[in-house]
Amino acid sequence: MIARGAILAGCLWLSAALADDHAVVLIYHHVSADTPAATSVTPAVFDRHLDYLDANGFTVWPLSRVIDAVAAREALPRNTVAITFDDAYRSVYTEALPRLRRRGWPFTVFVNSEAVDRGYASTMSWEQIRGLLEAGGEIGNHSHTHDHLVRRHAGESEADWRRRATRDIETAAARIEAETGIRSRLFAYPYGEYSEPLKNIVRELGYRGIAQQSGAVGYLTDLLAVPRFPLARGYDDLERFATGVNARPLPVRAVDVGASSRRAGDIERLRLVLDAGDYRPRQLACYGAGGKALPVERRADEPFEVVIDVTGIGRPGRNKVNCTAPAIDEPGAWFWYSHQWLLRNPDGSWYEG
Ligand SMILES: [Zn+2]
Repeated sequence: MIARGAILAGCLWLSAALADDHAVVLIYHHVSADTPAATSVTPAVFDRHLDYLDANGFTVWPLSRVIDAVAAREALPRNTVAITFDDAYRSVYTEALPRLRRRGWPFTVFVNSEAVDRGYASTMSWEQIRGLLEAGGEIGNHSHTHDHLVRRHAGESEADWRRRATRDIETAAARIEAETGIRSRLFAYPYGEYSEPLKNIVRELGYRGIAQQSGAVGYLTDLLAVPRFPLARGYDDLERFATGVNARPLPVRAVDVGASSRRAGDIERLRLVLDAGDYRPRQLACYGAGGKALPVERRADEPFEVVIDVTGIGRPGRNKVNCTAPAIDEPGAWFWYSHQWLLRNPDGSWYEG
């Protein structure tokens, strides 16, 4: 009995040591040397990323499993990542798929169905998409048209906008289901752009919303704005990759961007309330576009509350602030939170794509 108890205790210790409360989601587009740098990594760089995950004991899960685990507040293996690809590009089939299949790793591809229907040369065919599923991949919804869904068209009413956005998401769901039999519960926002009204549509349709601002996924993550670390040429070296996959979620309890987030110039302050954790809150630093450090004012300690001055950094279109704080128990690791918001032009018109 003693031996059995010792073994049990050992197993419990082991499972506690290996359990964690977060994961990191990666987003790629093309895996090719011949496609635009801003949306591509080369096959050689992709190999280096996969080698890093392998050499450092990462567990690769499908994104749906990561989302289900954090939604249920279940423990995840230490160092869990999900590998995702947006836009169903052909190089995912020709370059990424064989590499992932060799390792037996799952992955998730977000499909914008109109591009597949039109048979673009750079896009996978439905047959290839079915091949992804057979190779251990999963697919998600990335809208039909890949439009900037947040924007309203000229003269479009709120109700018309809602109908159009809903139809776009449902058309993709129907096409994907007709071609593969799969009905995914994951929706990746085109361009990573979301707003509260769009999040509401995504929620009402029964989806989780997958975004593109950087950060790790934890129990407090808004599952209608799930962060992913983007990898593309110029931002894909191994040091940055390691920082990304080792990131942990800053436990942001509440976020407030003020009354309005509609026009450039409107947002001036971003307020964050954070739970305590294994990070150093007083070393929280926040950065705007281009890595510009932003003034962070501490308002309270318990719970830790800061106000970040973003006066003047907001531009029409997508805006982001990245906040990081060093981990206490793991030198070199960062707790991370990124906030994205969209602004219209100062005259209230919508930004161009
Ligand atoms: Zn896309």
